[in-house]
Amino acid sequence: MKQPEETLFDYTVEQFADLQILRYRVPGFETLSLPRKKLVYYLTQAALEGRDILFDQNGKYNLQIRRLLESIYTHYQGNRSTDAFHALEIYLKRVWFSNGIHHHYSCDKFVPGFTAEYLSEVLQSLPASCIPVEKGETVKKMCQKLFPVIFNPSVMPKRVNQTDGEDLVLTSAANYYEGVTQQEAEDFYATLKTPGDSQPVMYGMNSRLIKENGQVKEQVWKIGGMYSTALERIVWWLQKAEQVAENDAQRKVIRLLTDFYHTGDLKTFDAYSIAWLKDTDSIVDFVNGFIESYGDPLGMKASWESIVNFKDMEATRRTELISTNAQWFEDHSPVAPQFKKKRVKGVSAKVITAAILAGDLYPSTAIGINLPNSNWIRSVHGSKSVTIGNLTDAYNKAARGNGFREEFVYSGKEKTLLDKYADITDDLHTDLHECLGHGSGQLLPGIDPDALKAYGSTIEEARADLFGLYYLADSKMVTLGLMPDSEAYKAEYYSYMMNGLMTQLVRIEPGCNIEEAHMRNRQLIARWTLEQGHDEKVVELVKRDGKTYVRINDYAKLRGLFGKLLAEIQRIKSEGDYESARKLVESYAVKVNRELHTEVLNRYRALHLAPYKGFVNPVYTPETDESGNITDIKISYTEGYAEQMLRYSHEYSNL
Ligand code: ZN
Repeated sequence: MKQPEETLFDYTVEQFADLQILRYRVPGFETLSLPRKKLVYYLTQAALEGRDILFDQNGKYNLQIRRLLESIYTHYQGNRSTDAFHALEIYLKRVWFSNGIHHHYSCDKFVPGFTAEYLSEVLQSLPASCIPVEKGETVKKMCQKLFPVIFNPSVMPKRVNQTDGEDLVLTSAANYYEGVTQQEAEDFYATLKTPGDSQPVMYGMNSRLIKENGQVKEQVWKIGGMYSTALERIVWWLQKAEQVAENDAQRKVIRLLTDFYHTGDLKTFDAYSIAWLKDTDSIVDFVNGFIESYGDPLGMKASWESIVNFKDMEATRRTELISTNAQWFEDHSPVAPQFKKKRVKGVSAKVITAAILAGDLYPSTAIGINLPNSNWIRSVHGSKSVTIGNLTDAYNKAARGNGFREEFVYSGKEKTLLDKYADITDDLHTDLHECLGHGSGQLLPGIDPDALKAYGSTIEEARADLFGLYYLADSKMVTLGLMPDSEAYKAEYYSYMMNGLMTQLVRIEPGCNIEEAHMRNRQLIARWTLEQGHDEKVVELVKRDGKTYVRINDYAKLRGLFGKLLAEIQRIKSEGDYESARKLVESYAVKVNRELHTEVLNRYRALHLAPYKGFVNPVYTPETDESGNITDIKISYTEGYAEQMLRYSHEYSNL
């Protein structure tokens, strides 16, 4: 059932460079209670206040460069329709997207499509008051400082350098270290660690490491320390959120977080993380802080991010239903009895609705969260794992009508199937994979869980995927009311095979093999079933007008093959059969058919689809009565990309 406004909702905003900007809906926000709406609102404000922190973390000149470009974009009175101005606009849009001057994914510095001469010319035409010089700095000095950073390819070329053998700290442009070598940084943190500490804090995660008068020391990110002005604003909103918290557990989470922002004490951060993962009853939830360390070549310093969300009741009901039937699924699987669990417990995956994305989750974002990152907390207390339903939904909806299906799907019959069912069957496959697949089966006594070594993760992902694929076609799914009818599973079978045999190759560089475990698992399953069903023509790769397509002739037999492979993969896992794992993965999962790869890349390129996507946020506006009390929070979805970025730079410019 579709709401009328849903069909009118435009999920795409704009496209430039290698980026597509999308918009997501926040279904269910309007029906939250007023206190919960206020809670969400205060937390979204706390999220947006941290934006400048990430720009600065990603590179020490990023904020000034952003402000310089924004000033030109807003005030330049000259000819705005030249190629050079257009290139400057694209450059700024990319800087916004990456929260800095390096590509958000490859980490390479952007190459501007305009010259240094053009930039100085434009700057000279601006009133001096519009140029964001630092205290005591002349415009000339600023240009001498920033122009090489923008234009010289050998200055700060990479945000995070991972090249083995180089000094990763000195050669990375990220702003986590200043004047220290990799050796000095490693030595500094090695001395902080206590041998045998079973509950170590995450040393170095909330500070910049610098050298001052020959002394290596930390500048801690806390109120009164580095980033104080932004953290004060965050805490101000967190305190408002605390007043409307849903329960004591949530109040404790917020209080520990504000304590941490005040003190920078990493023990407090651990206490906060534990309180956060234990708070599973609250409807509204959030992450706000220094979380992921991908931006530090040494993997210690954490970038700032925030997401505010609330439970998706409908989707959570779906995963709970799957989970409560876990034993039935285990008992009826095609796996040999000795490899089955006698007592299996399904996990109920929590599906959440994102209300705001910020910091390192904006505009480019994850579609799932599994935190905290502290190893000892994960092993002692566990972790909280959620998938973000409304973002996945927005990706799916935006992909409608972009030409991808028209190009790669065999015929109108399959396309109709996908249009009708693919969104729901894709979600259900993920649910089965997460709630049941990984938890199913057992190792034989005495088998080392790491016996499959480097092939372990591909085999494990294949096991979970196959469990899901096998059961999607089961009548139990219709009986439980999870699948609309007995035809729907075919949509997932088709898109899975098409992806595994062909279209996932768009993410592989020409001439390369497949390395990532999920991609390997998908090709393993697709190639193996293609080969096994060859004689009976269960699945075929067929050519039409020089283009290759996947055609499935017998869906029921394909299910049989999925079941057969599941039984074999489970045997390999249960017995720790390294040699069979190696053979399966090396024969089916790794190597790429060069000719097909080239064809797929060419066809994909011709569609002009942007490989990277990100989101603009909705806008939340409080409504108040005469005495200023909030009576409602309205949500709107009309803000454009540049409009939002400029507003954020104006309203949340804290550093
Ligand atoms: Zn998995």
